[in-house]
Amino acid sequence: MTTTALSHWQNWSGYVSANPQKMLRPADQPALQELIREAPAPLRFVGSGHSFTPLVASSGSIIDLSAFAGLVDHNADEMTATIGAATRLSDLMKLLQGIGQGLPNMGDIDKQTIAGALGTATHGTGITLGAYHTQLQAMTFVDGRGEVREFIQGRDDDMIHATGVTLGAFGALTRITMKNVPGYRLRRQRRPIPVAEMLDNLEALMSAHRTTEFFVIPYSDHALYVSSDLSDQPPSARPEEEDEDGLDTLKALRNWLSWFPWLRRKLIGSALAKVPLEDYVQDWLNVYVTDRRTRFNEMEYHLPFEAGASALRELIKMAETQFPNVYFPLEVRAVAADDFWLSPFYQRPTCSIAVHHLAGENPQPYFHAAEAIFRRYDGRPHWGKMHNLNASDFARLYPRWQDAMEVRRSMDPAGRFLSPYLQQLLSA
Ligand SMILES: Cc1cc2nc3c(=O)[nH]c(=O)nc-3n(C[C@H](O)[C@H](O)[C@H](O)COP(=O)(O)OP(=O)(O)OC[C@H]3O[C@@H](n4cnc5c(N)ncnc54)[C@H](O)[C@@H]3O)c2cc1C
Repeated sequence: MTTTALSHWQNWSGYVSANPQKMLRPADQPALQELIREAPAPLRFVGSGHSFTPLVASSGSIIDLSAFAGLVDHNADEMTATIGAATRLSDLMKLLQGIGQGLPNMGDIDKQTIAGALGTATHGTGITLGAYHTQLQAMTFVDGRGEVREFIQGRDDDMIHATGVTLGAFGALTRITMKNVPGYRLRRQRRPIPVAEMLDNLEALMSAHRTTEFFVIPYSDHALYVSSDLSDQPPSARPEEEDEDGLDTLKALRNWLSWFPWLRRKLIGSALAKVPLEDYVQDWLNVYVTDRRTRFNEMEYHLPFEAGASALRELIKMAETQFPNVYFPLEVRAVAADDFWLSPFYQRPTCSIAVHHLAGENPQPYFHAAEAIFRRYDGRPHWGKMHNLNASDFARLYPRWQDAMEVRRSMDPAGRFLSPYLQQLLSA
């Protein structure tokens, strides 16, 4: 076991930090069991620190499970793979490709661990496609008593549904089995679309492709409409990424023109009209993810699918009339309903809307204004992105909340995983 005393930890955006008594890296399961019994509480597990909420922060112990990574086993007939839970998505993609399997969908980046992704219900986009946790077939935890617990789909369905979105609150997740799909190829397209056209047809546009995503660009009256569909065409070159250049341009226009919104609108609008259409075919693992080099903070709420357009209208108006500093696009995605008790997609087809703010600038006034709109539409916040909800809100938003809390208490009776933030989140 590696122990680092009196260390400093911070998340990807630098917004959350902690000075735990110990940072621990157990080498194997017995060492993990021992430290769960003995290490100073609260015990919090860390993946790659890409959450914007203080889920990982602890004054006791932060536990890095990176020793539990890599392919353990796979079943080619059933398209399943058993992997160490701390495997990074970037590694997972390659190892699945190596055994002829693929992830049915992915989010924007591949830097997270799969356990971290399961920790917060990380998702991609596609109204028929579920978040990562919907692929779970089996999970192995070390619980708050230091005991190994294995749950298997078909035998322990309630436990899988209770613990599949983990919040790092049920135990240390060491191993999972995922149901995958055979490797596949996608045709990805991107084009600008007028915001009015997008809002008038949002549900139809979101349902028109296997994956769809909109980036609404403030002060432009336009969005970028990105979609992908299965393809059997030969691969073609994926264009160089321009996202970062685009952000720099939007930031410069904000800095120069925040007093002249009409000019900003005109310049962005005419620049967007010249954005080259993107249209290429590639294997699944070369399509979904991008490199997000600019650091930001983010709030994302998951709304009933049919509420998306109305909420977006309000959000765009709010951003453009009250926050001339905003230049990051609003990101709009769709996610299929599922049956996981702590999933924001629980029994609800979803339209997810995210707002971003440059790291180092104060995001709170903009995020508070956005949150007031999200809440009016019964939004459930992304567990890993900024929000101000607590246990009493979740008890109202999640029909199986009390059942999930009962399972949590049974797995962690002494509250070893409860940091002050987790208490606020989970204890009404
Ligand atoms: C640039 C960027 C892009 C993003 N894009 C998307 C996106 O497209 N879609 C989306 O939904 N989200 C997205 N996110 C959010 C991100 O996917 C989540 O916050 C995810 O949880 C981060 O994974 P991580 O490995 O960094 O986990 P961490 O942030 O380190 O931890 C997250 C949670 O998982 C728990 N945990 C981690 N490992 C274990 C373990 N082994 N056992 C038990 N609990 C564990 C932690 O205790 C914590 O509660 C993005 C974030 C960033 C910074």
